[in-house]
Amino acid sequence: DGGVVREKKKKFPGIICGEKMAAEGTLSFSVASVVKDVLEHGNRSKDSDLESRKAELTASRRYEAARWLRKMVGVVAAKDLPAEPSEEEFRLGLRSGIILCNVLNKVQPGAVPKVVESPCDAALIPDGAALSVFQYFENVRNFLIAGQELRLPTFEASDLEQRGKSTRVVNCVLALKSYNEWKLAGGNGVWKFGGNTKPATTSLGKPFVRKNSEPFMNSFQKTSSMNENLSNGHPPDIDPNTMGGAGSLSMLVHTILIDKKPEEVPLLVESLLGKVVEEFEQRLASQYEVMKTTSTDITASNFNKPLSEPISGDKKMEEKNIKMMKKDDCFLKSITNDELKDQSLKLQMILNKQQRDIQVLKHTIDATTADMQHMQTKFHEEFNNLGMNIHGLAHAASGYHRVLEENRKLYNQVQDLKGSIRVYCRVRPFLSERSSYVSTVEHIEDGNITIGTPSKYGKGCKSFTFNKVFGQSVTQAEVFSDMQPLIRSVLDGYNVCIFAYGQTGSGKTYTMVGPKDLTEENQGVNYRALGDLFVLAERRKDTFRYDVAVQMIEIYNEQVRDLLVIDGSNKRLEIRNSSQTGLNVPDASLMPVSSTSDVIDLMNLGQRNRAVGATALNDRSSRSHSCLTVHVQGKDLTSGTILRGCMHLVDLAGSERVNKSEVTGDRLKEAQHINKSLSALGDVIASLAQKNTHVPYRNSKLTQLLQDSLGGQAKTLMFVHISPELDALAETLSTLKFAERVATVELGAAQVNKDTADVKQLKEQVILFLVTSTYWSR
Ligand code: ADP
Ligand code: MG
Repeated sequence: DGGVVREKKKKFPGIICGEKMAAEGTLSFSVASVVKDVLEHGNRSKDSDLESRKAELTASRRYEAARWLRKMVGVVAAKDLPAEPSEEEFRLGLRSGIILCNVLNKVQPGAVPKVVESPCDAALIPDGAALSVFQYFENVRNFLIAGQELRLPTFEASDLEQRGKSTRVVNCVLALKSYNEWKLAGGNGVWKFGGNTKPATTSLGKPFVRKNSEPFMNSFQKTSSMNENLSNGHPPDIDPNTMGGAGSLSMLVHTILIDKKPEEVPLLVESLLGKVVEEFEQRLASQYEVMKTTSTDITASNFNKPLSEPISGDKKMEEKNIKMMKKDDCFLKSITNDELKDQSLKLQMILNKQQRDIQVLKHTIDATTADMQHMQTKFHEEFNNLGMNIHGLAHAASGYHRVLEENRKLYNQVQDLKGSIRVYCRVRPFLSERSSYVSTVEHIEDGNITIGTPSKYGKGCKSFTFNKVFGQSVTQAEVFSDMQPLIRSVLDGYNVCIFAYGQTGSGKTYTMVGPKDLTEENQGVNYRALGDLFVLAERRKDTFRYDVAVQMIEIYNEQVRDLLVIDGSNKRLEIRNSSQTGLNVPDASLMPVSSTSDVIDLMNLGQRNRAVGATALNDRSSRSHSCLTVHVQGKDLTSGTILRGCMHLVDLAGSERVNKSEVTGDRLKEAQHINKSLSALGDVIASLAQKNTHVPYRNSKLTQLLQDSLGGQAKTLMFVHISPELDALAETLSTLKFAERVATVELGAAQVNKDTADVKQLKEQVILFLVTSTYWSR
């Protein structure tokens, strides 16, 4: 691990560059650097430690000296000197010089010719103390002289006194001991103390120090190689270059030792040596660790060089190593091209993998974004749909509200209509050529019309009352405006019947259809009613769906004919009131219509077919009843209820009386049929008025056809037409008399056709609204 190496480098500045270490696989530090480190730092930093070591060493040397002295003189003679004396005890024991002199004499007989022995009992001598001091000094001086001759380390007599340097005494004793041993061993060669090969020429202190520097070096070399051998299997290969600091090293040693006292030197050297050995071992151990780690790396990556290979799978380490490689040129230099290629290949692979991962992430983000956008779009759509639905609902609600409002109004109008037939009177204007003629109509005011009668017809004038009277100048639109509530009733499921009654030429067809040259302004009730149906159905389309279809038939000579045939066929049709389809004439063409133009086309067709049977002399339209029936089916979109309503728009045959003596043949036949049908209509009305259980609907085709529209459930409106001419006065009066009777007929309440079952029941009630003048004249 490169980190560990860097760590070591920091700790040990003397470490050799990694390149060297890597290349040679030897020590990563110089021996000299270790010594230098210890000398420079270790010595100073561990002063207190050294002191205690020093004291320990001093004591052990003192004990050694004492034991040897006791052994030499015997325990009795050495009674004043304990085997392990304190510094004080040592000094006191040797103060008399007796032991020293005697030992010296034993080692070197006759060295001290005269030894002043101590008195047996000092107490016996009155001034023994003074005597003793003198005697002792004598002994010590003699010892020192003799010792100098033997080249023993010397000391001063005062060293045996208080505060004296007893270590110097110890040194001297131990030197004597050494001398004695040398002598006992045979005394070969020259005796030397402490490895000193040359006898001191001057003082014993300084030369001693200097001479010891070389053996120090030797012993160091010996120790270091020993330790290297111990630390690992690699034989230490000490580079001479690393020893290049030997000169400065000896200088360093010299500086350290120069101010030391000679007796301190051995102790100091020993201490330093111990530290050097310790340091060395430590460094070796850490280097061994480094070697071990790097060799593991090498094995793992199959690379020969450590520190340059990324640890596979560990990106962090890889990055670390890359950084290291960049930092340290040493590494880069040592990496060969192949290794570089290999490494860049690996880096490339890692880069590729990361790029692939990024791509995958990008795709995921894109997909998520797309999903979000999709959801957003959907949300907007849903929101819009919801808005539209709410809008539709609001529209429907308002539509429903409108329908309710409309129905409320209609309810009032229904109340008005209840029980009565509405009768309107319309006066035809003079036809162009004869505009100057005097009108029989004298006065019109609200629902009243006054007819003036010449004297030959009786008294002055006659008044009639109707729901409404329209004068000569009233337009088609004004006439229709009062009919609109009836049209709404059809959409609500009521049956409606609108008749046009009057003598021929009084304007019945004009009111129901219009003049021959039809315009939007002058079109009659038929077109306007259907137009209104379409408008109302459109308005209600959110709540109701309406289907509108029309039939157009003709009753001529008691025969029912279809007026909407295209092929010109003229077959007779049956009236079936029990029809399941709700159609009284199921075989007649039923044409769906959805616009006013559809209706116009069909009406034109009907008019053409009606004219088929007409002869030059007889206008057939005056001799027959025509009936346009509008069938409306409405479905309530909310409840699903189906309402059916129908509207009969009937243009009756001319009501004028026929003088039987004046006509014969076909004309007579026609007149008889017309009289018969209008008489039947009168009978039905009479029965209804008298509340008879039997109502003779079946007596004519007309009453059969209108059966479900004449009664309590139906609403009936009759336009009574009169001509203003004087020569029509008789017919005018008879028509007005008839109409006034009809208007007073009371009927049951109108009811809605909710289903076909109801219809039958409602058909029991019939209104008789129309009678012919023939009927009334009887
Ligand atoms: P009917 O059908 O009762 O026999 P018509 O509707 O054919 O009578 O009318 C006869 C003539 O009088 C027609 O030429 C018609 O155009 C005209 N006429 C009828 N009523 C009016 C009116 N209100 N305004 C103008 N002309 C009318
Ligand atoms: Mg007509």
